[in-house]
Amino acid sequence: ESRRKTKWAGKKILFLESTDSTNIQAALAGSRGEEEGVLVVAKEQVAGRGRRGRQWESPQEGGIYMSLLLRPTVPPDHASGITLLMALCVAESLQELTTEPVKIKWPNDIVMNGKKVCGILTEMTAQVDYIHHVVVGVGMNLNQTQFAGELSEKATSFWLETGIRADRSRLIAALLEKFEQSYEVFCKEGGSLSRFRTEYEKRLVNTGRPVRVQDGKESFDGIALGISPKGDLLVRLEDQSIRSVFAGEVSVRGI
Ligand code: ATP
Repeated sequence: ESRRKTKWAGKKILFLESTDSTNIQAALAGSRGEEEGVLVVAKEQVAGRGRRGRQWESPQEGGIYMSLLLRPTVPPDHASGITLLMALCVAESLQELTTEPVKIKWPNDIVMNGKKVCGILTEMTAQVDYIHHVVVGVGMNLNQTQFAGELSEKATSFWLETGIRADRSRLIAALLEKFEQSYEVFCKEGGSLSRFRTEYEKRLVNTGRPVRVQDGKESFDGIALGISPKGDLLVRLEDQSIRSVFAGEVSVRGI
C-alpha cells in the first residue's frame, strides 16, 4: 500500500478472509517471535471477543477487524494505557471525516450519539516485571447498515451516524500512522499518558457525569472527573474522596 507512511506499524500485514479472532492470530504471531508492528486484518471474525469473554459481533459486511502486535518497553501495569491511546487514535481518525462528535467511553469504547461504533481489546503476555508482547485489537463498525436484536440499542456504525461511506484501507492507514506516532511518545515516557490526557478527556463522555463502577463483587457510584497518567478513571465519591479505577477488569456505566 503506497499510501502508508509508517515506519513499523503494519509494515507486515496478514490479510485473512475469515478468522476466529484477529487478537488470537496476532497473539500467535507474538508467540512465534514476530516483530512489533505485525498487523492482522480480517474481513470477518467468527469468534470476535470483547472484554471479560464477551462476544464482539463481526459480520463480513462493513466492519474493520484488526489487531496490532506490540512489544512495549514499559512496566506491565502501564500496558492498559495502550487501550486508551488506541481509543483516542481511532476517535481522532474518525473525527477527521466528520463534524459529528466522536466520543470515548472510558476506557475502550468509541461512541457516537451514545452508541458504540468501535471497541478496543488489549491483551498481553507478561511476567511480573516484563512484557513479552501486547496485542491491541480494534473492532470498528464502519459501513454496517443495521444491527439486529438488542445490539441495535447500543451499537451503531459510522455510516449510520454520518451517511459517509469511509474507505477501509485509507482509514486503516490513517489510524496506523497516528497510532505509531503516539505510541512512540507513550513508550518514551515510560507508559505515561500525560501528553494525551487533555485530548482524551476532551472526548470522554463520562467527564462530570455520574458513573457506577462494577468491580467483581464490589460496586460504587461517583462522579467521573477524568483520567490519571496511567489511564485510571478518577471518580469522586459522595464523601468527596477521589478514587482511581484501574482500566482492567471493571465495567463503568452512566447512571
Ligand atoms: P459495556 O457494554 O458494558 O461497556 P464492555 O466495554 O466491557 O461492556 P466490550 O468488551 O467493549 O464490552 O464489548 C463487548 C460488548 O459490546 C458485548 O457484550 C455487546 O454488548 C457489545 N457488542 C458486541 N458486538 C458489537 C459491535 N459490533 N458493535 C458494538 N457493540 C458490540
